[in-house]
Amino acid sequence: MEARVVEHLSVISRRESLNAFISVFNDAAVRRAKEIDIKIRQGNAGPLAGMVIAIKDVLCMKGTITTCGSKILKEYEAIYDATVISKLRDADAVFIGKTNMDEFAMGSSGENSAFGPTKHPLDESRVPGGSSSGSCVAVAAGMATTSLGTDTGGSIRQPAGLCGIVGLKPTYGRVSRYGLVAFASSFDQIGPFANSSRDAARVLQVIAGSDKNDATSAAVDVPDYLAAMNRDMRGMKIGLPKEYFSDALNPEIRSVLQKKINALIHAGAEIVTVSLPHSEFTISTYYILATAEASSNLARYDGARYGYRSSKSKDLNSMYVQSRSEGFGDEVKRRIMLGTYVLSSGYYDAYYRKAQQVRRLIQNDFAAAFTQVDCIITPIAPTTAFKLGEKMNDPLQMYLNDIFTVSANLAGIPGICVPAGADANGLPIGIQILGKQFDEATILTVSDFLETVTS
Ligand code: GLN
Repeated sequence: MEARVVEHLSVISRRESLNAFISVFNDAAVRRAKEIDIKIRQGNAGPLAGMVIAIKDVLCMKGTITTCGSKILKEYEAIYDATVISKLRDADAVFIGKTNMDEFAMGSSGENSAFGPTKHPLDESRVPGGSSSGSCVAVAAGMATTSLGTDTGGSIRQPAGLCGIVGLKPTYGRVSRYGLVAFASSFDQIGPFANSSRDAARVLQVIAGSDKNDATSAAVDVPDYLAAMNRDMRGMKIGLPKEYFSDALNPEIRSVLQKKINALIHAGAEIVTVSLPHSEFTISTYYILATAEASSNLARYDGARYGYRSSKSKDLNSMYVQSRSEGFGDEVKRRIMLGTYVLSSGYYDAYYRKAQQVRRLIQNDFAAAFTQVDCIITPIAPTTAFKLGEKMNDPLQMYLNDIFTVSANLAGIPGICVPAGADANGLPIGIQILGKQFDEATILTVSDFLETVTS
């Protein structure tokens, strides 16, 4: 354990230019590893003994700074542990640090951080994806065995795809959100990054389950994930949504996915074309509802209670205005304005209410598709990792990057991204598997199979 922690710490310092971490627990991690080494020798170590985990800086860990990638929380020290943190600690995992991220998890590239952009481990002129940029890079570059990210519209799966690792977004309600700083509460889920589906399953096994501190966590049994992952594809019915494989799909991505689909057919799976007819509305629906929820959640950062307070303020009102103007970055401000607008009287019915109704139709599309198939395969992102700065001045282009991922959050279903191949420049291409609610076992089985056919 100790040697492994030391090795990860040395990668963190060697590859500091990737900017994956906001804080690194050098001494604390080594100390903890020594304690767990003793437990291992005594034969009473927990199920995650030996696993070194990096944590997205949006999860509260008592006594440590939790910035959410924002200047406004730059010095905010968490006063309690998120449920996922206590569960991982009880399982004897070692925490190695808190990772960089798009401010308040808003972004698809890792560039919206007050602590500077995270870089792609294979090409530092490119983005690693976001918003869980640092957690993804930590695992991809060998700075941790696994990590936790959060996925509101794709923030675990999309960076995993761009960096060539595994990223799992569980069903909404599968993992407690207690201690996760809220972005869009009806979408946010916590999940693991890993180098294999099996490691992702090990982490999910520990963090899943209902929690009295989160009323939206579901009292649904947690199966033994590793036991379910038998790599047997015979009789598996897999849907390909025709809307996701249109002529507009990048040909390199299409051909990499097709090879994986052929391997599934060869192994006995049945491929079925399905339709998700409301797919064209997913981006607009997501960006109305997620910004509405964000504008409400972020109202608490007023300079009075949490975080940064401007020194320029003269009275209460200017304290609010100045603290928020100086504390939030551009993308966060854009979302607060959008969200406030769609919730305002006179526009509520045209935007917010309408989007809620469309969200239901999108959920119904998936429910109908899942009467025919066990899981659904789609691309993960329209392109491979793009250049730093390429989409920063065009928010709409940035939002369109989420076209294949937001539907799972709108429908509340689980999704996993697993490496499928690479483009002509050697940049990773991922494949996404979406499952029925609470059926992470099936998508893990398929992703585990897809990993083995690669090797
Ligand atoms: N890219 C999406 C957004 O900016 C999703 C972010 C996320 O999943 N946290 O909202």
